Amino acid sequence: MVMSELFGSMVFSDRVMRERLPESTYEEFRDCCEHDRPLSLETANVIAGAMKDWAVEKGVTHFTHWFQPMTGLSAEKHDSFISPTSDGGVIMEFGGKELIKGEPDASSFPSGGLRATFEARGYTAWDPTSYAFIKDGTLCIPTAFCSYNGQALDKKTPLLRSMEAVSREGVKLLHLFGRKTEKLSSAVGPEQEYFLIDSKAFEKRRDLMYTGRTLFGARPPKGQELEDHYFGAIKPRVAAFMKDLDEELWKLGVLAKTKHNEVAPAQHELAPIYTTVNVATDQNQLTMEIMRKVAAKHGMTCLLHEKPFAGVNGSGKHNNWSLVTNFGHNIFEPGKSPADNAQFLLIVSLMIAAVDKHQDLLRISAASAGNDHRLGANEAPPAIVSMFLGDELTGILDAIKDGRTYSKRAACQVEIGVHVLPKFAMDSTDRNRTSPLAFTGNKFEFRMLGSAFSIADTNTVLNTIMADEFRLAAEELAGAKDFNAAIKEIIRRNMKEHGRIVFNGNNYSEEWVKEAKRRGLLNLPTTVDCLALLDSPENIALFERHGVLTEAEIRSRKDILIENYSKLITIEGNTMLDMAEKDILPAVTTYEKELAETVSALAGAGIASAPQKDTLKLLAGLYSDAAKAVKSLKAALEKGKNAADWMAYGKICRDEIIPAMNALREACDGMEIRTAKKYWPFPTYGDLLFSVN
Ligand code: ADP
Ligand code: MG
Repeated sequence: MVMSELFGSMVFSDRVMRERLPESTYEEFRDCCEHDRPLSLETANVIAGAMKDWAVEKGVTHFTHWFQPMTGLSAEKHDSFISPTSDGGVIMEFGGKELIKGEPDASSFPSGGLRATFEARGYTAWDPTSYAFIKDGTLCIPTAFCSYNGQALDKKTPLLRSMEAVSREGVKLLHLFGRKTEKLSSAVGPEQEYFLIDSKAFEKRRDLMYTGRTLFGARPPKGQELEDHYFGAIKPRVAAFMKDLDEELWKLGVLAKTKHNEVAPAQHELAPIYTTVNVATDQNQLTMEIMRKVAAKHGMTCLLHEKPFAGVNGSGKHNNWSLVTNFGHNIFEPGKSPADNAQFLLIVSLMIAAVDKHQDLLRISAASAGNDHRLGANEAPPAIVSMFLGDELTGILDAIKDGRTYSKRAACQVEIGVHVLPKFAMDSTDRNRTSPLAFTGNKFEFRMLGSAFSIADTNTVLNTIMADEFRLAAEELAGAKDFNAAIKEIIRRNMKEHGRIVFNGNNYSEEWVKEAKRRGLLNLPTTVDCLALLDSPENIALFERHGVLTEAEIRSRKDILIENYSKLITIEGNTMLDMAEKDILPAVTTYEKELAETVSALAGAGIASAPQKDTLKLLAGLYSDAAKAVKSLKAALEKGKNAADWMAYGKICRDEIIPAMNALREACDGMEIRTAKKYWPFPTYGDLLFSVN
């Protein structure tokens, strides 16, 4: 198939709608989407009929409302189109009602107490701004998932609400600049990292199967130190996978654009072209799912965990975010005229205020048990939120703050509303790769997210905190006598009060941790630390003010996240016990027996101090360390089970279960490097990381 036919062939896209819908229906649909109006049932019926015909032509028999519950995964329940006829046959039917609303029996999705079991059913509602698509012979309809009293049970509903908020508040501000903007949308391009390993090796590791990461494993002789993998030549098997993956994604209308090898062996990256954030969110969920499926077809397993292997880089997801008007103007684009620049500098200063005030929310949006291993581990930003603006932009903003002359290039004071900004050279040399949130010329790149995350939460936060600053600025500017002076005052104040969040240096360094502390920035190393802050009065007020989340929804999210964290750590702890007791300790025992027999045979032959004896002693010592660690891990897990609530459980995970797991791992990894390979019960790091050739 040629590319033009392939791309989007499985998507009920705008083009397909224009072709297949009566013109009046199409117009009505577009109008509803643009003005966030509900569709009439009549229109929905016509669209549903056209959708069904289109899908049936492609061999589809089932449809599903596709949604993103709080698990962070995507969910679907398939129904067939068939409907019995009076003569004993069937017809394929699909109506507007079924398109618009669905009722999955969703009592087992986490709801954090939002939905009492007696009203267990939530409902799914079509999100017409994200296109329906065909996956595995099923028509998938992107939906939001809510409880009957309207509470959000998913990640998409708050995202859609935050899109409304940032548009509403942003437009108000832009109108003060005399713009005719009607809508402001957030556009996102998420770069996705992942690992590929051979499925045969994967299947021999219960830790990978149960938890997605290795819980044991000594460093291999070769890791990433040569940096020979980064942008290296792609192996044929991986290249075949990537080609297939691209094609599958293109069929689904995902603009998969770049692909390359990453820093760690077996690590790769895929980046799509950016698009509206709710579509980008759906497409990233799909991308992760398709990656797994296509890998399996090629005899490989795709690992999306944030830290599948200790000692080599983990995987992140870079969230490139910008705000675009309905005229296609990106408001983070430095302008060409003095008026544009006043607006640009003001908006950057609003972003500075937003990020400084809401460091906790951004950090929380990247919090998970998996990502805790990655943040601050020399491959990802630390658990401290800061912003990179580059020296030039920082210099200009600082000059405004201090009422000084900015003289690097402009050689004059940047007078708001009077001067054109110097052109920022944002080439790769002055890009800071260590910053959690970097301004990269015309967008902000949030780099804290882990590879397995849905991008919904982060963008919900970015949209909401920006909406709040737009609101404040618009209120202030609306009453200003001297517009330019008022802008200057807001910039000055934001820089003075929130400029501490700007850091252009090396975020991976020890000095930064100290400096950040001095500046009073939050450092929240674990999920437990940051989740405690989610339902602070300020956060509740912020989300409620913009209609993004209610207090009950925030509390439920906190409960779900901490419960999920605790359960994951518990599964990891139990998996370690299982592998240590059933595999590692018995294997070492067998090797010790062989060594002991050798040592005594050698002694019988008159060789009393054979080096085998030293190995045996070392192993025996490590074995007893491991046995002790098994005991304390069991005790810690038991204590967790009896915790008063999930937050208490989470703290036991952080303070007792994880340290016990680390001790067990250390002893076992020590035994691994001293035990003969033929006794070791599962593939080693070397076997896994270099399993695809
Ligand atoms: P990197 O050097 O970090 O790989 P790229 O320039 O390749 O950065 O872009 C990475 C991602 O950013 C891509 O998904 C791209 O589509 C997206 N992107 C580019 N411009 C914008 C923008 N204005 N808004 C949002 N995302 C963008
Ligand atoms: Mg990037």
